[in-house]
Amino acid sequence: MAKRAPWHSAKADVYHDDTNCNTGNNIEKENVRQGTGGKRKCSDCKKLG
Ligand SMILES: [Zn+2]
Repeated sequence: MAKRAPWHSAKADVYHDDTNCNTGNNIEKENVRQGTGGKRKCSDCKKLG
């Protein structure tokens, strides 16, 4: 389990907090934002966590 500070994509409605999440890792650099953005947690991160 690899947790880090939450991040999200400006174009998606979920945030990520696990470094093993493919969706989170595939966010284009220009769209990456720090924090949860007030969004709900990504379902993959929920499974990983
Ligand atoms: Zn995720």
